[in-house]
Order: sequence, then C-alpha cells, then structure tokens
Amino acid sequence: MKVPLFSPLAQNEALASALHEVFKSVLDSGIFILGSEVEVFEKEFAAWHGMNESVAISSGTDALLVALMAAGVGPGDEVIVPSFTFFATAGVVSRLGARPVFADVCPACYLMQPDDVEHLIVPGKTKAVIPVHLFGHAMDMNAMEELGKRYGVVIVEDVAQAMGARCGEQRVGTRGDFGCFSFFPTKNLGGFGDGGMVLARRAEDADRVRRLRNHGMHPKYHHAEVGGNFRLDALQCALLRVKLPHVEHYLECRAQHAGEYLRRLRELPGVSVESSPTCNTCACGKGGRAEKTDARLVLPEVRRGQTPAWNQFTVRVPHGQRDALKQWLLEHGVGSEIYYPVPLHQQTCFSVQQPASSLPHTELLCQEVLSLPVYPEMTPNQRDHVIETLNAWLTR
Ligand SMILES: *Cc1c(COP(=O)(O)O)cnc(C)c1O
Repeated sequence: MKVPLFSPLAQNEALASALHEVFKSVLDSGIFILGSEVEVFEKEFAAWHGMNESVAISSGTDALLVALMAAGVGPGDEVIVPSFTFFATAGVVSRLGARPVFADVCPACYLMQPDDVEHLIVPGKTKAVIPVHLFGHAMDMNAMEELGKRYGVVIVEDVAQAMGARCGEQRVGTRGDFGCFSFFPTKNLGGFGDGGMVLARRAEDADRVRRLRNHGMHPKYHHAEVGGNFRLDALQCALLRVKLPHVEHYLECRAQHAGEYLRRLRELPGVSVESSPTCNTCACGKGGRAEKTDARLVLPEVRRGQTPAWNQFTVRVPHGQRDALKQWLLEHGVGSEIYYPVPLHQQTCFSVQQPASSLPHTELLCQEVLSLPVYPEMTPNQRDHVIETLNAWLTR
C-alpha cells in the first residue's frame, strides 16, 4: 500500500465541478488583477477568523515580508525568530536589512518559549518578534501579546502552517499585530500555486499593507513609500473561495488522524511522550531540557490550552535512527519528510552576519525529527498501514 506524505488530488477532485465553474467565471469576466473576487475572498477569510481586515498577498513569504515592511522594520533593527522553522521566517528579516535573532525552541512541543524570547529582547533594537505556530501547534499568544505591550515590539505571527489552530478560544493569527498565512498547496487551506494572506488587527495597518502590496501607490501613480507587487491573482482567490467553507472539515480529518496516531502509537514498544521533565518555564509546561531518552520514538507534545491544526505530525527518532526509519517507511510505501534538517542559525547566509551560537534543542530536533502523513484525505486503511509499518520497525 502507498501512503504519500501529502496529496492534493482527492481534495481537489471532490470539488472539481465547482472549481471548473469559478475558473470559467473568472475567465469570462476578464478581470484577473484585484477586483471583486479578491475583495470578497478577503472579507470571507477575515470573517472566518472573526476579524474585519485581511489583505490577499502573493505568497506566505511575501505576507511576512510586507507585514514587516508595514511594521517599519529596516536596517539596524533586530527581529526575534525561532531557529527551528522554515527558512522564509528569517529570510524576510534579512531582505529588509534587519538582523534575525535566533531563539531556541522547546524539544517537546517544538515552539519558541516566551522566556527565551524575553531574554533576547534588546530595548531600542528589537523591533519585532515572529512567533511561528510550527506544524500547526499554537504558540502561547497571551505571553506574546504581553511581551509586545511591555517592550513595545510588534508581534507578527507566522501562521503559514497553522490556519485554524486555537490558543484558548481564539484562532491564531488574530492576536498579533499581523497574522501571516500561506496557501501553498500543502498548507491547511491549500491553493493552486502560491498565495498568502495578511490579517491585521488595526484597519490602518491593513490599509498600509494594501498600499505596499501595490508598489506603495496611493492615490494612483503617487508613491509616498516604496512597496512591491505582492498581489494575489483574482483566479487564485476565486478558487480558494471554493475551498474555504471546507477548511473546518479538513481540520477535523487532520485531528482525527493525529488523535489515532497519538492513541495507538503510544501503545507500541519503545514509544514515549515523555521527552523531558516537567517544568514551568516552557510553553507546553513540559520542556526545558532535552533529556537523554531510552525511547525509540517520541510523540509530539500538545501544549496545554491550545488546539493544534495538525499541518504536520512530527515525531522524534532518537539514537541516530531517524534516517534509517525514513528509509524503512519508504521501502514500505510510506512517505515522510525531515522538517527541518538544518538549524537556521547555522545556515551559511546567516552565519556570515553573525557567529552561530549554540541552540541545543534546535540542533537536536534537526537530527531527530520526522514528519508522517496526516493530510485530510488519507484513508483509515492508509493510516493503519503507517502505524503497522512503525510497529514492524519497533518490533523487528
Ligand atoms: C510555508 C511557510 C512559509 C512560506 O509560505 P510560502 O507561501 O511558501 O511563501 C513561511 N513560514 C512557514 C513556517 C511556512 O511553513
């Protein structure tokens, strides 16, 4: 049996006639740049989050870039980001001439810890913090909001992997000054190419993002500041509008797969959820130090008070066995991927800017993490096959 890490085919097939219909309607309209499909999608996306303002952007990366531009980040500024994340989170900081300052993450829930962030804040230098809701796990946004207020730093949430996750009752992306989303096909609302969105809490911030998206132009052919072309196509917005009403269902399917993994994998020999001693400093209430573990597979920790959106189901495989397990899965038809193999603070492009400090949890995770299939349309039989293949590896 084959179980790919991800496949968009079944999801799109189920909506094919509606997608063909809106494709034809945009084709017939002849309106391809901005216009009502974009405006209506922005309204619907904001409403889905209980918000008023969102701005459709060309990609998740550009959403982060334009949010930082709107926050006034520039040369000489520092922006705190986790080292354990996708490259874009830090790349956008450098592109604006600012310096990414890398924080370590919790080895159990993979997220930045508010205490670590606070230690890295330098008043007058730190302009922004980018909490990343990695793999769909929600950061502690109460703590982030408080740090933002206390130190006067802008909070730009990277929600690329976490649309629909909740911190307490509230969806992520709605608590920071900006929430930045991606519609890359593998994300929770997967598009048909590149796409992104910025949610802004304040109307004036949304207006600024909207101007910057279109070369900083306002009114027409007048430029008070330099922006770019960060527009999202009308066609992409029209297609995404077809999918938006189904996101809640997709998230339920992801949660069901993750729930079954958590419930059934912990029964297998050598599997643990206890990767670290209980301690109060960590966002998940567990982490702090990465203890040596006897376990051969460590399941992800769900931080108290959050509801994840399970964009990835990422386990740890200690004792140097990660790549062997990946190969075993491959031989049994199961796709998996390493998100991420190299810490950002050790990337050449950043280490020329600053000597790489040691971030032990990030370095450990990069050696041990492996993401397993958790896409909504995976069938129960396919999920069973993943679990059986892991069982066979653990008992071989
Ligand atoms: C996917 C992703 C991005 C970038 O989104 P794109 O739409 O691919 O540009 C940024 N941050 C994180 C954490 C991501 O996973």
